[in-house]
Amino acid sequence: MQSEAPGPSPTIRSDVRRPARSAAEALVSLGLWHVGAIRRLQRRPVARILAYHNVTAQSDPVFGLSTATFAAQMRFLKRHYRVVSLDSVAEMLAGTRPWVERAVAITFDDGYEDNYHTAWPILRKLELPATIFLTTDYVGASGGIWLNRLHLALRETPLDRFAAPKLLDTGLAELPLRTAAERASAAHRLVDALYRLPPDERKALTERLVEGLEVDLAALSPTPSALRLLSWDQVCEMADGGLVTFGPHGCSHSIVSRLSDNVLREELTASKTTIEREIGRAVRHFAYPNGTEGDWDERAVRLLAEFGYATAVTMRRGLVAAGANPFELPRVGYNGSHGPTLGKRLEDVEVRRALRGRSY
Ligand SMILES: [Zn+2]
Repeated sequence: MQSEAPGPSPTIRSDVRRPARSAAEALVSLGLWHVGAIRRLQRRPVARILAYHNVTAQSDPVFGLSTATFAAQMRFLKRHYRVVSLDSVAEMLAGTRPWVERAVAITFDDGYEDNYHTAWPILRKLELPATIFLTTDYVGASGGIWLNRLHLALRETPLDRFAAPKLLDTGLAELPLRTAAERASAAHRLVDALYRLPPDERKALTERLVEGLEVDLAALSPTPSALRLLSWDQVCEMADGGLVTFGPHGCSHSIVSRLSDNVLREELTASKTTIEREIGRAVRHFAYPNGTEGDWDERAVRLLAEFGYATAVTMRRGLVAAGANPFELPRVGYNGSHGPTLGKRLEDVEVRRALRGRSY
């Protein structure tokens, strides 16, 4: 340690006392550095984009967080951040609007009905703007998006093992389903393999898998929130209210980098024109389904720009800084499995970024 190195010699007593004092001082100064660093980071020209899914009575590690937690988070944002629309983030990035300190945008993926029943009243009460990304093939459809049907079937199945179909390369001929962890792992393998198929084929095969798992999802009572999607009436009512804007999450919840050129073009245009036709407003923002690294590609970025989108958001974790590619915007995801507070999670992202030596 530095204090034990030879040099101008303090008394023995001070040598003994110094380490204890140093440790305490170090802790205090680390705390002060942390608070100061967070404050400095929060004032930088960056925006944070939050990604939510379900907001339900019960928190769920896969599908979403509880209404009470969401309400507390929104009150926290209202008090400590400036909640802005995704349009404002696009303008800050384009340089047509000054960067707002402590800017946060709120987004929801997939288009769940609980966004209307639980999240929207809270957003209205606090006057917070948000963007909901719709999977357009499923708006108004009963039964839920294909991957949620499979997730729930794997949670509910009475089987303790499942023979994966030969045409799906899951890496295992038979998937064990004895524990929650094994079921989650099976869901991960099957969903990943299904994402490799064209949308129609994938949807049909998902139904065969759900049947094979011997689960009647329509009989689940109450219907899980993950299977309940917004209707066009609910979408229009929120759009007319002015606080909520809408964008596509594709038509079929496909990973865009795995689509053929033709299907990719169709997913990016049809989802946009469908929403614009239904709500009578221009649509400017896209959310890549799944959205982790490699789930989008240069073709998608080029087409989104060509089709008049202003931004596209990913699930790459991070903050939006000046100069960022508007079609690869990072977000901070939040669901039922995440830590104690939103503030801590936002701080973690800011500090981690600073520690990586990136100045935004
Ligand atoms: Zn999604």
